[in-house]
Amino acid sequence: MTKRDYYEILGVPRTASIDDIKKAYRKLAMQYHPDRNPGNKEAEEKFKEAAEAYEVLSDQDKRSRYDRFGHEGVRQGADFHDWTNANASDIFSIFNDIFSAGFGGSIFDDIFGGASRTRTHSTGGIGERGSDLRISVKLSLEEIAEGVEKKVKIKRFEKCSTCGGSGSKPGTGMATCPTCGGHGEIRRATKTMFGQFINVVQCTTCGGTGRIMKDPCPTCSGNGRVNGESTIKVKIPAGVGDGNYLTLRGEGNAGRRGGPNGDLVVIIEEQAHEHFKREGDDVIYNLDLSFSEAALGSEVEVPTLTGRAKLKIDAGIQSGKILRMRDKGLPHLNGYGHGDQLVAINIYTPTKLSQRDKEILKELARSANTKPPSRNGNSSN
Ligand SMILES: [Zn+2]
Ligand SMILES: [Zn+2]
Repeated sequence: MTKRDYYEILGVPRTASIDDIKKAYRKLAMQYHPDRNPGNKEAEEKFKEAAEAYEVLSDQDKRSRYDRFGHEGVRQGADFHDWTNANASDIFSIFNDIFSAGFGGSIFDDIFGGASRTRTHSTGGIGERGSDLRISVKLSLEEIAEGVEKKVKIKRFEKCSTCGGSGSKPGTGMATCPTCGGHGEIRRATKTMFGQFINVVQCTTCGGTGRIMKDPCPTCSGNGRVNGESTIKVKIPAGVGDGNYLTLRGEGNAGRRGGPNGDLVVIIEEQAHEHFKREGDDVIYNLDLSFSEAALGSEVEVPTLTGRAKLKIDAGIQSGKILRMRDKGLPHLNGYGHGDQLVAINIYTPTKLSQRDKEILKELARSANTKPPSRNGNSSN
């Protein structure tokens, strides 16, 4: 089987930033997620394909190997999963490794919304399941660095407290459905030229439960649920990224007539930061140095995700140099270790000079030491 180009799969140009790649992947993963496309083989293939493309293109090292050598370049790595040939259950365990490692607790047990489980379908006697709700939570890089507990307000259906969700006026109970006599289904015989066919259909009067309310609950008009609003605490672990999502089981809409609750899906949105650019778990900071700080060396203070920190500048540092502040980046989602803060050096050229400043600079310019070595013998004077 020939493999499609990873960029083509995600629909991004080869120059796409990591953010573009994440966004594209997030969109595809949501669209083709097996939970939303039950039994659809094509969607499952697309889902796997996108996961594989994302795994490679989101990793700087794998991406550059792929850019240079194509599919062969990344197939070698021991950490490469050939997802197109894997079966679905493997993929979901890999997903759990990647997306929910370190999520530990019961409510974060799987970020991809129960992909690996089969939902129990309610039959006879139980009301229908409530629908899932989706909300997004905006997080600053500082919040992502520390992990954070967010309170979110959501409007949702909640169980009616008057009837406890049954939909019946308290004390009135249920009666046997007169239409189906309590069977929940109706058999209809149809005579045709080929003989008699028996058609079994669900009773519409009782919705297949065989029982009806004697009297509907006055609060919820028999629905068993009412409009409500709740504030929910969402504990977000350190190191999450834009597009990751958490599923809070049972925090979605209440089901009708006592049916199980839907889930609440919390999607992480990362806010742009005034100082930092995120690159995986590293953060990049641009630092302007004056000519004298760069030439003489210095100690400067720079912002980090956990407050200001001192940074030593060696004498003679050049523009474009990148200094690494170890472990000052974001924590890895699996809970072990941190990324780094990368400080990109830029030498600031003064634009407003007094007469005196100019004289000093002219005097300095006479020294051969100030000439860039790359321009030796190329002097304009
Ligand atoms: Zn009620
Ligand atoms: Zn009935």
